[in-house]
Amino acid sequence: MPSQFKTVPIFNPVYDNPPYQNDPELDNVMERERERERQNHQKNRDTSGILSPFRFSRRENADDDDVTIKVLYCGVCHSDVHSVKNEWGFTNYPIVPGHEIAGVVTKAGKNLEKFKVGDRVGVGVIVGSCMKCETCDQDLENYCPRTIFTYNSLDHDRTKTYGSYSDMIVVHHRYVLRFPDNLAPDAGAPLLCAGIIVYSPMKYYGMTEPGKHLGMAGLSGLGHVAVKIGKAFGLKVTVISSSPGKQDEAVKRLGADSFLLSSDPAKLKLNGKLVTLGLPDKPLELPIFPLVLGRKLVGGSDIGGVKETQEMLDFCAKHNITSDIELIRMDYINTAMERIVEIYV
Ligand SMILES: [Zn+2]
Ligand SMILES: [Zn+2]
Repeated sequence: MPSQFKTVPIFNPVYDNPPYQNDPELDNVMERERERERQNHQKNRDTSGILSPFRFSRRENADDDDVTIKVLYCGVCHSDVHSVKNEWGFTNYPIVPGHEIAGVVTKAGKNLEKFKVGDRVGVGVIVGSCMKCETCDQDLENYCPRTIFTYNSLDHDRTKTYGSYSDMIVVHHRYVLRFPDNLAPDAGAPLLCAGIIVYSPMKYYGMTEPGKHLGMAGLSGLGHVAVKIGKAFGLKVTVISSSPGKQDEAVKRLGADSFLLSSDPAKLKLNGKLVTLGLPDKPLELPIFPLVLGRKLVGGSDIGGVKETQEMLDFCAKHNITSDIELIRMDYINTAMERIVEIYV
């Protein structure tokens, strides 16, 4: 049975009035895309990172456990850039990025009491998992061996998942978050990735007690949210950066307690914990001596489970925490992605 046929509004910013619907030129582009897909099983490799309009189908709302969501806003994440350029080596083209979704329910499956049409909702980095393994049982779907990511992943029915640089998405209710009423949907959307990425390790590594010292290396998408969440937990927050120009932003604007001009993990105190959160495309070099001699720990953390993501959203709403955003139209996306890369150079 054919499922809905939708336009990725790559040129449609607010998704309310898709200007490219029924556009013959777009139809031509799409026909070419489909032809490319038909040829050789579609391992289209286009690592240019340039996004263009693309039509695709999503699965029909199964009318029992699914939620259909009209996408209102979607964050632009550095992962999107890595993925469209295949910098991690597992991009399955064509790709539709986007996993920081704020939207509204347009259809709720009949089994659902949790969601109804018109509810404000969010979806983050994952849209599925096996739902029966040990990690799923512990609400750690993000570590399930069969995690289904919001895009560039295979769904249970073996169809490809496409992200939310699009006008709608169909998601199993387990992976849909309630979006708090007082959380702005545009500035709140990136929390579904950046927020939970920094919130989850703070909880896991015991950084929620007032007075503890949190150092945040870098003040980019994750960093500035970490400062805000850390301060809300009552931590003493130090921003560690190799650019002196970040001091004012860290201390005066975001309220960090101090600023350290360094990129040296040796500055960690005795028993310090270094937790890596980002996913750079190259391995990290670590000086081992200071780790051994100071009983320091190096750890990692990857987003968070759905339950904890909901907790993070509610926490951010309660403490008036949002991401600092620049609201863009979809036709600016390629420039926006270039600018994201420049920030990291
Ligand atoms: Zn992300
Ligand atoms: Zn599982």
